[in-house]
Amino acid sequence: MDSKAWFERAKQVIPGGVNSPVRAFNGVGGTPVYFKSGKGAKVQTEDGTELVDFCGSWGPLILGHARDEVVEAVAKAAADGLTFGANTAKEAEFAELVCSLVPEMEMVRLVSSGTEAVMTAIRLARGYTGRRKIVKFDGCYHGHSDYLLVASGSGLLTGGISSSAGVSPAATAEVFVAPYNDLAAAQEILRNNGGEIAAVIVEPIAGNMGLVEPLPGFLEGLRTATAECGALLIFDEVINGFRLGPTTYGHMCGVKADLTTLGKIIGGGMPIGAIGGRRDVMQKLAPLGPVYQAGTLSGNPVAVAAGMKTLELLRDESPYLRMEILGQRLAKGLNRIAAEKGMDLHCAQRGGMFTPFFRKAPVNNLADAKACDIPTHARYFHHMLDCGFYTPPSAFEVAFVSAAHAEAHIDAFLEAFGKL
Ligand SMILES: *Cc1c(COP(=O)(O)O)cnc(C)c1O
Repeated sequence: MDSKAWFERAKQVIPGGVNSPVRAFNGVGGTPVYFKSGKGAKVQTEDGTELVDFCGSWGPLILGHARDEVVEAVAKAAADGLTFGANTAKEAEFAELVCSLVPEMEMVRLVSSGTEAVMTAIRLARGYTGRRKIVKFDGCYHGHSDYLLVASGSGLLTGGISSSAGVSPAATAEVFVAPYNDLAAAQEILRNNGGEIAAVIVEPIAGNMGLVEPLPGFLEGLRTATAECGALLIFDEVINGFRLGPTTYGHMCGVKADLTTLGKIIGGGMPIGAIGGRRDVMQKLAPLGPVYQAGTLSGNPVAVAAGMKTLELLRDESPYLRMEILGQRLAKGLNRIAAEKGMDLHCAQRGGMFTPFFRKAPVNNLADAKACDIPTHARYFHHMLDCGFYTPPSAFEVAFVSAAHAEAHIDAFLEAFGKL
C-alpha cells in the first residue's frame, strides 16, 4: 500500500486522516507522505522512495533520525520499565543536567509536551503574580491550550484561521496580542494595563510563522518593560532551546526570562516538555505551592533517557558550528539561485533553522510572512518532494538542517531548487 491508499484508509477512522492538522498537506495540496523509517538525514516512505528530510519531525531531531546512541538509551530504559508513576534517579539527573546547561533555570519540572509546558507556565505566572492577563505576539505559537489559540502561528496559519472554534471568548479575552518585533505596541499594552498582566510570553526567535529573528532591542525592551510592571517574562523555547548551542537562546543572548519552556529537542524524539526558571516562582508549583500541575507520565523514564542522551551528545559533540555553516550554505545558495532566476525569495536562516520566504523583502512579523507568495511555496514544496527532499508542508514553518546532514545533501538540494 502506498501513501495514497494509507491516507484513504486513515481518513475513515482518524479525523482528516491525521493526528495533527498540518500533516494533512492543506497548506500545499496533494497527498501526505507516509513515513516508514528514518536513519540520519534520510527517511524511507511507504511509496518505496527515499527522501532527505529537512523537517526533522518539526524540530526534535537535531541529531537526525534514529541516532544509534539515543536508540540504545531508549531500548535500555524501556527494558527496565516503561513507566512507574514514581520517582527515578534518572529524572533527577536529567533535571540537574538541564539546570547546569541553562543557568537561568534554577528549577525545572518535566511534562509530556510543549503545549503542557506552556500551559503550566501561564498558570504558574498567574498564580505567582495573582494577576490574570497575558500578552502574546501575533504569529507566535505556544501550543493548543485555549487562551493561547488567539492569533497563533503554525498549523493554524496554514488552515487560514487565526483562532479555533470551541475556545471560550472568556479565555481569550484575557490575552492581549501585539505584532512580533513591535516593542512600542507591547510597551503601550503594559503601560495601560500593567497592574493586570501576569506575563508576557514570546518565542525569542519566532519559529511558527517561518523563521523570524528578534530585531535588536526587542527582547531587551520586553525584559525592562515586564520588570517595571511586575509581570513575568516567559521565553517559549520549545523550538529555540538547544537549537543554536547546548543551552537556551535566552542564555545565549543574555536576556534573562523569569520562566522558560522547553520541548522538542530535549526529548530527543520522545514526548516531553519542561518548564523552568526562577526558584521563587517554581516553588509556587504543587506540592510546594498552590499552583496545581500533575502528569501520569511526567518525567517518563524512556523519554528522559532519550532526552538525556541527546543533550549529552549535543554538549559533548557540539555540532552547532557545522550546522550554522551548512545552514548558511543552503540559505545563500537559495538566495543566489533565486536572484539568478529573478524569483522573489528571501531565505531566513539561523544555525540549522531556515525558511525560504517567497518575497524579496525580509520578514519581521506575521503581516510580512502573510504577504509571501503561497502558491509558489506550494510549487516549491512539491518540486522538492519530487526531487527527493522533504521540507515542512506549509509556508509558515521552519525547516531544519540537522547534525546528520552533510554538505552533499545541501548541494543536492540546491541543484534541485535550480530546476524549479
Ligand atoms: C511546538 C511548539 C509548542 C507546542 O509543543 P507540542 O509538543 O507540539 O505540544 C509550543 N511552543 C512552541 C514555540 C513550539 O514550537
